Formats: sequence, C-alpha cells, structure tokens
Amino acid sequence: MKAASFAYHRAESKEEAVSLLSEHGDDAKVLAGGQSLIPMMNLRLARPSRLIDIGHCPELAQLERVGGTLACGATVRHVRFERADAPELAACRALSDAARLIGHAPIRSRGTIGGSLAHGDSSSEWCLMMLVLDAVIQAESGRGVRRIPAHDFFQGFFTTALAEDELLSAIELPLTTVGSALAEHSRRRGDFAIVAAATRLVADQRLRVTTARIAMGGVASQPIRMPSAEDVLHGVDLTDRRSTMEAVSEAAHMCAASIQVSDDIHASSQYRRRLASTLVRQALSRSAQDWRTAGD
Ligand SMILES: Cc1cc2nc3c(=O)[nH]c(=O)nc-3n(C[C@H](O)[C@H](O)[C@H](O)COP(=O)(O)OP(=O)(O)OC[C@H]3O[C@@H](n4cnc5c(N)ncnc54)[C@H](O)[C@@H]3O)c2cc1C
Repeated sequence: MKAASFAYHRAESKEEAVSLLSEHGDDAKVLAGGQSLIPMMNLRLARPSRLIDIGHCPELAQLERVGGTLACGATVRHVRFERADAPELAACRALSDAARLIGHAPIRSRGTIGGSLAHGDSSSEWCLMMLVLDAVIQAESGRGVRRIPAHDFFQGFFTTALAEDELLSAIELPLTTVGSALAEHSRRRGDFAIVAAATRLVADQRLRVTTARIAMGGVASQPIRMPSAEDVLHGVDLTDRRSTMEAVSEAAHMCAASIQVSDDIHASSQYRRRLASTLVRQALSRSAQDWRTAGD
C-alpha cells in the first residue's frame, strides 16, 4: 500500500521546525528517519496531512560532551552510536552495545534516537537505556523548552509526554563510565525484542551499590522501571560475588513476578516471565562485572 496524500515541509533549522509545529501541530507529524512513521503511513495506520521533515536541521544532529553530560541532538542516527571508539562516546560503551541491537544496518543508518523516543515502542533499546541512565529529554515548542526526566516521558502504549506541537529537540545523557548493560531476546536477529532488560549499577569507591536501575521492555504497554527490584540491590557489596549473585537473583525473580503479561502471538505469559528473569539476571551480572573489572 501507499501512504495517503500529505503536504511536505522541509525545515532548515530547529527554529523553523518548532515554528511549523506551532502552526500545524494538530494535523502534522514530524518526519525524522522515517523508519517507523513511513511504514505506518504506508499501512494507513497513520494518516497525517502534513509532514515536517527535521532531517536537514544541523543543530538537531549534534552529539557532543558537555562536562559530565552527553548532549545528543534528536536526529543523531542509531549508526553513530555503534562506533564505540568515537571520542564523544568513549565513556558510554553500553550505548554502542544497545545501538547494535536495533533492527538491521539500513534501519540504523536512517533511524534516529529522537524518533525512537518519540515513537515510544515498549521494546525500544533507546527507551530502556534512557530510563536506566536517568536521561532528560528536551521538548521544545513556541512556549519554550521543557526538560522531561525519562521516567516521566513514557506514558502508555506508543504514548509519550510530548504535546502535539512539541519537538523532541535533544537528550541530556549523564555520562557513566561503567555499570550499564542491556540484554534482550528476539526470535530473529534484527527483530524487535520479545523481552529486553536494561540495567545500571552505580557504586562507591568500596564497590557498594549506591544507585540501581532496572528497565524492562516487552512486558507492558510502555517501557517501565522496576523500582522494588532496584531497592534490593542498594548497598550490595560488589566485591562479594556470592551476596551480589543472591541480590541479582532476588531482583530478577521480583521483576518476573511483578510484570502483568498475557499470552500473545509472540510468546506465552510464562515464557515472557522466564525471559524477564533470565535477561534481568544477565544484564545485572554484566553491570556488576563491569564494576569489578574497573576496580581491578
Ligand atoms: C524492520 C524494522 C525493525 C526495527 N527494529 C527495531 C528494534 O529492534 N529496536 C528499535 O528500537 N527500533 C526498531 N525499529 C524502529 C527504528 O529504530 C526507528 O528508527 C525508530 O523507531 C524511529 O526513528 P525514526 O528516526 O525513523 O523516526 P520516524 O519514523 O521518522 O518517526 C517516528 C515517530 O516519532 C515522531 N518523531 C520523530 N522525531 C521526532 C521529534 N524529534 N520530535 C517529535 N516527534 C518526533 C514522528 O512524528 C513519528 O510519530 C525497527 C524498524 C523497522 C522498520
């Protein structure tokens, strides 16, 4: 099928994109990489009467370190994160690992991080990573800029905190050198994950956990955090492998027990729970190992 007819606007700057959205927000959609929007339009699941193309706005494509933060423009493409050796990504290996799990090479070379977050798929690697990294998402409109913490951003089935006239302009990512990981399972390489788990552990100098984050995809209508399971990890001594593994197992078990899933064409609820437990355990073990390696 082909998309229904639409008007096309090519924004040459972020300001122009914001202004076009202010004028046409009700019936317009932002076009970034087009890797989700265009298939949806071709299937007539989306019928916007206008597209505002933000792919030619230089300010939105910037990726740079600003102090302890990675300032990431909305149209930075997935492929750019794959290069773990890029100087601006040196401290964020987990971002490169996550990027490589997104779809296939042609999708990664067009799709953008802002597009993934605005789309808000429950299994999206970027959505999960933003939750565990405590990222802040910038939403810009004629009314100004709102800074939205990732944990307030995902609000339901393909629903985010963005208003119709707001442009997701940038993401602020606290740079964390160690302790983040993502584990997922999909039927074929490149498919969306059936279940995915992202984790981050922050530890003090004695390798005691001060902050723990667990986010899960494919187990709810939106990407979600698991705060009760996170609590189990606080204070854990990562140099003590036995107590670490006990806490990791308990957290994994709590995640599997607390998710509300039903059978669907991709997996039974029982299978999804098993995956949830296994993947949380895998990701947390990697996060813990990361700290031990860094401490050696
Ligand atoms: C076969 C296939 C496999 C895939 N596998 C995966 C996968 O494993 N993991 C994964 O995460 N994704 C996967 N994707 C989706 C892909 O990552 C997309 O790139 C991503 O979901 C959307 O990014 P985009 O830049 O292409 O956005 P678009 O398709 O251009 O836009 C998506 C939505 O976000 C809105 N939007 C985009 N940018 C902004 C902005 N800056 N401000 C406000 N609204 C905006 C659009 O209006 C639209 O509603 C897959 C896609 C395909 C076709």
